[in-house]
Formats: sequence, C-alpha cells, structure tokens
Amino acid sequence: MEVAPLSVWLKTNSSPIIIAGPCSAESENQLISTAQQLKENIKISLFRAGVWKPRTRPGSFEGLGEVALPWLKRVRNELGIPVCTEVANPYHVELALKHEIDALWVGARTTTSPFAVQEIASAVAGTDIPILIKNPISSDLNLWIGALERFSKAKIKKLVAVHRGYSTSIDSRYRNSPVWKNPIELKIMFPNLPIICDPSHIAGDRSLIGEVCQKAIDLNFDGLMIESHFEPDSALSDKKQQVDPKTLKVILSNLLLKTEHSPNKNFELELESLREKIDQIDYELLGNLKMRMEIVKQIGHAKRENQVTPLQKSRIEYLLRQRAAKAKDLGLSEEYIREIFSYIHSESLKSQTEIMDNN
Ligand code: PEP
Ligand code: MN
Repeated sequence: MEVAPLSVWLKTNSSPIIIAGPCSAESENQLISTAQQLKENIKISLFRAGVWKPRTRPGSFEGLGEVALPWLKRVRNELGIPVCTEVANPYHVELALKHEIDALWVGARTTTSPFAVQEIASAVAGTDIPILIKNPISSDLNLWIGALERFSKAKIKKLVAVHRGYSTSIDSRYRNSPVWKNPIELKIMFPNLPIICDPSHIAGDRSLIGEVCQKAIDLNFDGLMIESHFEPDSALSDKKQQVDPKTLKVILSNLLLKTEHSPNKNFELELESLREKIDQIDYELLGNLKMRMEIVKQIGHAKRENQVTPLQKSRIEYLLRQRAAKAKDLGLSEEYIREIFSYIHSESLKSQTEIMDNN
C-alpha cells in the first residue's frame, strides 16, 4: 500500500498532530465560534465536523446536510484551518468535493460494509483527496485493512487510519472498547500508514479523554482526533464526550509526550545493552523450541507405532494447569503463559497429526 506521509498534505505543526471540532455541525455560529476558540487555544492541523451523522437509531440528530458545507469552507478560508467531514455514500462525496472540503473521513458504521466502502472509493478515484478511515464497529482487523486497500486501489495515497474503539461484549469503562492490539498490528503491517486515535468515541465520557490520549501517545500514534464544542452541554450529538476548546488545551498540556529516541546518550547505551540481553534470551527460547519440537516428533512416531491418537485431552489440560501454576510462582501472568502454551501445544498437535497421516 503506497501511503503519503501526513506532512505532505497537512501542516504537522504539533506532535502528535491534532484534529478537533464538534461531533456535528449544528449552526454557522457554533461552527465558527468553536473553530475560533480552538485556534486561540491549541495548535490544530485539521478541523472536523459531521454534516451527515450516521446515528445508530433514527430520531436523534442526523446532521444538517449540504447547508453546513459552506460554514466549513468559511472555517478554512477565514481561519486558515483545513476542514474535514464524514461521507457515507457517493452523493456525500460529490457534495463535499463541490464545496471543496479538504479531507473526508469514513465512519465506523460505514467501514463495516465493503459495498459502501467500495462505492465511496470509486467516487473519489481520480482525485487526490485525503481519506481518513475509522476502524469498523466490530474488532475485525481485516475489515479495516480491506477498507484501506479499497482506497489504495482507487489510487488514493493520502490515507490515514483512525482508531475509535469497538462495540464488544467486553465489560469496559469505555463506550467503545479500545482493543489496542488492533492498531498496533496495523502499524506493524503498514509502518508508513499514519494512525490517529479518536479518544472521544473510545471514552464516551469527557472525564476519560485524557487517559485515552496518554495511552495513544505512549503507543506512538501520529495524532489525535478529539471532539470539541464551544458549549459541549448543549451539543446535539455525543454531548457527554465533547470538551470545550479551553478544556482541550488543559488535556493536551497535561500529556506526557514521549519520543522514539532520547538525546540522553547513557539511556540509549543502556537500552542497547538490555536489548542485546533480550536478543540472547530470544535465541535461547528458539533453540529450546526447536529441541522441544524434536521430542514432540519422537513422541509422534511412538504414538503412530502404538496406534495412539495425537490428542490426549487430559495431557493438554494437565500441561496448561502446570505451566500456569509455575507462571504464578514466577510472578508471570497466568493468562499470558496459558496462551503461549496453547499455541505451542497446537503446533505440536499439528506436527504429530502430519506424522500420523504419513503412514
Ligand atoms: C464521529 O466521528 O462523530 C462519528 C460518528 O464517529 P464513528 O464513526 O467513529 O462512530
Ligand atoms: Mn461523534
């Protein structure tokens, strides 16, 4: 996937970059006042406001549609902040392009549907408009990757992934469970793809925004997309999670910024020597896994000769119980060790099944 760095199309005047603005565009005054206050308080790279709001249930505020697009354009022209809005179908794309909106985002509900994503990707093909793609509602990483690929195939290079959490059955303090391993895996698979965290839709409550932002910074996200409204308590959508621009300034100034490298030479040297130790331990682990697999195969041959099945349920139960108990003694997480050994055991089973099948 060919992806342009954020700095190619966005003023990256802060690290992480900040995208902010209300959940929805509600009136010209609300939009302009919020943008002005944001500009006065923080370094903002992109202003957001939803014009078409995909609400889970009908009856709540669904956005004002096309009338709000010229207000967004005013923000860009008068305050010099590029603007973005959500699109969910080719008609939205057509209107957003007509009103010269600078960037578009695809919402979580839309990313869930490959048909809808494809229609939007085909509608923007031939333009070089930046596209921000929120993760889908369910924690299926491939659905998110698939959406990014559809835009990539439409030759869109200014792509950004936005992590906004998932509807899961996991009991969480948050409105949408973060499942941080998904954006981490995405970053490992596509190191050049900018990833932005949307703490507002993860948290669902303004008191939790700061801690989610900090987590995103600790994980080296490229930016934050935060809902901000000049009068959050009167917001027509997502009011509990919106913060006013002054509060946003406080949240951002309380963040502990971290970088990938430190100018402290002693720290870098210590890090290098500790990493050498980790490398050494990992090679020993690999050597041990190799020796373990040799024995697994010997057992596989013996089982074949004696017509015994590769899987003995009592053995795996015993093994996991013992390893978890040992992990506990060592102060390691039992769940972590159980997961590793389940994986090791299933690879053993695979190898023994192949031995059985080869007679
Ligand atoms: C939004 O950004 O206001 C929004 C509707 O987000 P999501 O698609 O992440 O729910
Ligand atoms: Mn919202």
